[in-house]
Amino acid sequence: MIPTVRTMGWPVLRLAGWWFCACTIGLTTAGAAEDRAYELDCFRSAFVAAPQNDAAIPAPQYAPDREADILHITIDVTPDFKTRTIAGKTTITFAPLVKPLTELRLDAIDLDVSAVTSNASVEGYSVTDKDITITFEPAIRPGAETTVTVVYEAEPKQGLYFRTPEMGYPEQDTHLFTQGESHLAPHWYPNYDYPNERLSSEVICRVPKEMTVLSNGRLVSEEVDAETGLKAVTWLQEKPHVNYLIALVAGNLKKVESKYRDIPIAFYTPASLIAYAQNSFEGTADMLEFYEKEIGVPYPWDKYYQAVVEDFVAGGMENTSLTILTERTLHTDETENIRSSQSLVAHELVHQWFGDYVTCKDWSHTWLNEGFATFYEDLYDGYKNGSDSMLAGLYSTASSLLADRPEHKPIVYRSYKGAGEQFDYRTYSKAGWVLHMLRTELGEQMFRKCVKTYLERHALGCVVTEDFRSVIEELTGRSYDRFFDQWIYHARHPDLKVSYNWSQRDKLAKISIEQTHQVSDKVMLFSFRTKVRFIVGNDIIDRPITVDSKQHDFYFPLPGEPKIVRFDPDYGLLANIDFEKPAAMLYEQLDNKDDVIGRLRAIDALKKKKDQKTVAKLKDVLNGDPFYAVRESASEALQEIHTDEAFEALAESLNQADARVRLQVVRDACRFYRPESLELIRKTLRNEKNPAILEAAIRNLGLYHHKDTRRLILDYLESRSFRNELASAAVEAVRMLDEPFFIAPLQQTLEQRRTEFQSRAFARALDTLAYVARDQEDRTAVRDFLAGFAHQPVDTVAAGAIRALGTLGDPRAISIVETFSSDEPDDAIERAAAAALRELQQRKELVPDEIVQLRDAVEKLRKQTEKLADDLDDVKNRLDAKEKAGEKKDAAKTSISSVGTAQNTNPED
Ligand SMILES: [Zn+2]
Repeated sequence: MIPTVRTMGWPVLRLAGWWFCACTIGLTTAGAAEDRAYELDCFRSAFVAAPQNDAAIPAPQYAPDREADILHITIDVTPDFKTRTIAGKTTITFAPLVKPLTELRLDAIDLDVSAVTSNASVEGYSVTDKDITITFEPAIRPGAETTVTVVYEAEPKQGLYFRTPEMGYPEQDTHLFTQGESHLAPHWYPNYDYPNERLSSEVICRVPKEMTVLSNGRLVSEEVDAETGLKAVTWLQEKPHVNYLIALVAGNLKKVESKYRDIPIAFYTPASLIAYAQNSFEGTADMLEFYEKEIGVPYPWDKYYQAVVEDFVAGGMENTSLTILTERTLHTDETENIRSSQSLVAHELVHQWFGDYVTCKDWSHTWLNEGFATFYEDLYDGYKNGSDSMLAGLYSTASSLLADRPEHKPIVYRSYKGAGEQFDYRTYSKAGWVLHMLRTELGEQMFRKCVKTYLERHALGCVVTEDFRSVIEELTGRSYDRFFDQWIYHARHPDLKVSYNWSQRDKLAKISIEQTHQVSDKVMLFSFRTKVRFIVGNDIIDRPITVDSKQHDFYFPLPGEPKIVRFDPDYGLLANIDFEKPAAMLYEQLDNKDDVIGRLRAIDALKKKKDQKTVAKLKDVLNGDPFYAVRESASEALQEIHTDEAFEALAESLNQADARVRLQVVRDACRFYRPESLELIRKTLRNEKNPAILEAAIRNLGLYHHKDTRRLILDYLESRSFRNELASAAVEAVRMLDEPFFIAPLQQTLEQRRTEFQSRAFARALDTLAYVARDQEDRTAVRDFLAGFAHQPVDTVAAGAIRALGTLGDPRAISIVETFSSDEPDDAIERAAAAALRELQQRKELVPDEIVQLRDAVEKLRKQTEKLADDLDDVKNRLDAKEKAGEKKDAAKTSISSVGTAQNTNPED
């Protein structure tokens, strides 16, 4: 899957931490440029508390025993879009494996079973809310192919999701979709639900005849039943796949389609969104061609369809031959190159090999699905946009990966509480990085050979990490025990202190390297091979080194003093590198157009300096570097330097042809908290056409308490835009301003425009309303308003409303929230209730009087400062008017400078 948090695949940021923020999935601002696609479980994992100490670590998890070989499943389902229920008949063909079988247990969650039949003799069956156990008498002998049919009805809370007019979706877009991974499929049909079993599948869905039905494999038939008027559509997946990959999408869908070789490819959306399909679909054929070549194994399935659905529960899901995608990946041409579906579409497509063709046998090896999907996104990026793009992507991922974390979990990890916990930075971006290191070390050709052999050997099978390692050892003749031990079976990465000395007398360079991280039973002392690069005059001199102990000193005789010294110049090592260099060497690095990582590292080092020469250099980079990510990075650095000169450098660099860089400069220049910044936002709002940049500017209005910003924000709250993204940005500004002034207008907007907001943005807006109203003495109206959404049939909105009741902090909401809570929270609503209850209880325990007094004082101060700023504004305006009339020029100048100072203190008090 992919995370919303990695959705959308906006190309700009590759946040390794996205799954955390993704509550993000649910609650980040809609359309934020930081958004990437999220996979379902990344979202779910945000709600799984990480174990804090050894005592709290759950018992290790292993794949369950298989008593029978499940061979085939036929799911025949009739949805009722009005009642949001299904009637189902599922037939499973199986054969006992080793011992005679008396009981077959099938996962089945809250299915209302009315009959169980079989070609063997069924003695009886029992149904719980989790499973069905069927008893056979006599026992079925090993190898005897048997069928069992379960007839049932269900009102699925998860696993199968309706999107209907009764829920607030447009009637013309009515549809349903499913999500299997990790263990949600049993909500709509019974089966053995664990990825250590593969089976073929057949899905029959009966719908009104104008509707479209999509499922795995190839279309077998479409027949209208004269009696019911319903159309029965049958799809067959003949090659065996695992249960969580079985999928169904049905409803009022439209498509764009094409072919890659003889493979049909198509992109479906709810009918009203078809105009935006092509932007997301257009790269698919090119990716298929690239991946077939890169992986060396032909695309393994009958077709490749992608279907966008409303309010998908994740960013994307790689069901065999039928990927489901979030609607948030759709974008308009106006956003230029800021929005793109590339990484999301690539990620899910790669899963068709890694995840679908071979599948991790249990969730401790999730990285064999997700790490490959993540890394091959990078490989496509490198192919399509050049190696600098791939390297800059890896650099950005590493920046967040290298942050220290309280817990040290390895990539292969068994002590997880729920499968969702495994879908995090370790199995996605860190595992992707480990594959990059492996490829750097093996070389591209050998890496390809190993991957191809691994896939061919385990084709249509279930794999563990050792399957991959043993292929590498076999083909290289070398031991990879240590590599896998330190990177996959142990946690973290090395912290390195690198220093350089030059002896002019001996013409000798000394490089010292120390591994400074804490070594423990969870984190090893690392062993790796890399290089040091010296550039002497125009000559590049590379010296290979091996680091395998805590401290090393290396000496290199050179023809002369190097102007550049680079550690790991090929960027094949995931490590925190503390390498201090003189500014002159960093400037040289900045000028080296052949070394994108060298330039990015130089900018990171230079942003700690604040001198004018550095600012001037960074400004040159921002306007002249050949690669956009380096220009973006220079912009960020100027923001962090934060001097007057840095602001001027940004303000003079707004005219960027590449929209991604323009966005970055707007963001950075707006964060200087000065009147000129506010003026710059206003100017952007007047002149900019790109909605993604407008969004950033609107959001940044929230940094400035000013009467003009209030008016602008109110205007944007009422504005109309694609997916209501500008109004959603205005909600973010409201949150940042945190002024009670907005309570009434925000509530009114939410009341009148519910269906225009995307569900996640609406949930976020409810929380913002609660946030802004949290200190009001009387919160009754807001509480009642929020409670009104807690029963909404759209989970995202209902969960958002419940969470918002927690944010509001009104103790009288406790009884409302309690009605949604459960001892073992299992779905979005129950998790929201648990979070809200925690917050409400905490707020109750605070010392109210002191806090209320403190808040009153702060509020008073804020109002005074605001009034002062407004007064000074008036003075300025009057003086400006006078100046224009040619009067008292000198007095005007004096006053203008004092206005600037006063407003400077103002922004976020
Ligand atoms: Zn994935």
